[in-house]
Formats: sequence, C-alpha cells, structure tokens
Amino acid sequence: MSFNTLGLSPSILKAIEEKGYTTPSPIQEKAIPVILDRKDILASAQTGTGKTAGFTLPILQILSQNPPAGRRKIRALVLTPTRELAAQILENVREYSTYLDIRSTVIFGGVNQNPQVATLKNGIDILIATPGRLLDLHQQRLLNIGSVEILVLDEADRMLDMGFAKDINRIMAILPERRQNLLFSATFSLEIKKMAAG
Ligand code: AMP
Repeated sequence: MSFNTLGLSPSILKAIEEKGYTTPSPIQEKAIPVILDRKDILASAQTGTGKTAGFTLPILQILSQNPPAGRRKIRALVLTPTRELAAQILENVREYSTYLDIRSTVIFGGVNQNPQVATLKNGIDILIATPGRLLDLHQQRLLNIGSVEILVLDEADRMLDMGFAKDINRIMAILPERRQNLLFSATFSLEIKKMAAG
C-alpha cells in the first residue's frame, strides 16, 4: 500500500514524501479513506501508531478542496489533553500543510492568552486546543467556533481521566450540530462511547 492510492492531493503527498514516509501505517490506511468519505470515526489508537497523520492528512485534504468563500474561519478543531501534545500536533499539522494555503495554531492554558488571541484574530483554519483554555477564550468572546466542520477528540480517555468531561460536553454544545466527529482513544469505556454519541 502506498500513500498515492489514498486520494490525497499532490501538495499533501509532497509534504509526506519530505517527511520520509513511504507507506501508511495501519491506522492511516484504515482511517484516511473513511474520513475523506466524511464519515465519523471512533478509533482505538495509542501514541506512536501514526494517528496524528491519520486524522491530519484527510482534514487538510477536505479543507483545501473546499476553500472558504469569505474570511478565514476555524473549520477544524482538535481537542487534546495536554499542552505538550497540542504543540506536537501543531508541529505535525504545519509540516503536512507546507504546500497548502492553510493556517493553524494552538491554544493552551498556563501561559498569557494575549499572543494566542492575536494569532486567532489573523484568521485560522485549524485550531488545536486544550479544553480549558478554549472555553475560557470562548466565554470572553475572543473565539468563534461556530463554523467548525470537523471535531477531533484526541486521546479522549486521557481527557476524561484529567477531568475534562464537563468542559468537553460544554464545547460540544457550542459547536454546530452538523459536523464530522473523529474520536481517538486508547481505551473504550462506556463514558467514551457516550461522548462519541454526542
Ligand atoms: P503519532 O502516533 O501520530 O504520534 O506518530 C508517531 C510517529 O510516527 C511520529 O514521529 C510520526 O512522524 C511518525 N509517522 C507517522 N506516520 C508515519 C508513516 N506513515 N511512516 C513513518 N513514520 C510515520
């Protein structure tokens, strides 16, 4: 199996090639076509399996295929438990979108919010966030997530373990009801299944 058969654009394939990837990992092989088909997924995947590219590559394809008519709006939101993970996902998203007109950024707590708010004001397509800071900026009306088309819950079990269940539910209530949901978790409790069901 090669990346060429997955339905990704030449700009994305070029970035993948530059990363030195030759074959998709099992999770990528399974998830990419399903996400490109605009279906929801509930995937069991640990860190190290290539899950980040598994959701990022098809998201980049979907967003770049249908560019927004007017101003740039947040169209994909990735929720993740820690700032380290959030920063790592952003790094990946930036690398894979080198040859695309896609802007991405990250927001997380524990640091001054002003630089994050300034970046958001410039217009962002993909936002990677920890739940607390996202809600905080939303409550201050510094962030609009009313145009999100794709929601990724990354490491969903860890987010629940860290006590983010309430925050995630509040975020899901703010997001447009009509959206694509991509949930990744190493384990599947009843709580995770409920979260996936919205
Ligand atoms: P992740 O599970 O998303 O944290 O990815 C784990 C590591 O695998 C990262 O360092 C990626 O850069 C790398 N990686 C992801 N997909 C591939 C692939 N298809 N071939 C080789 N390495 C990959």
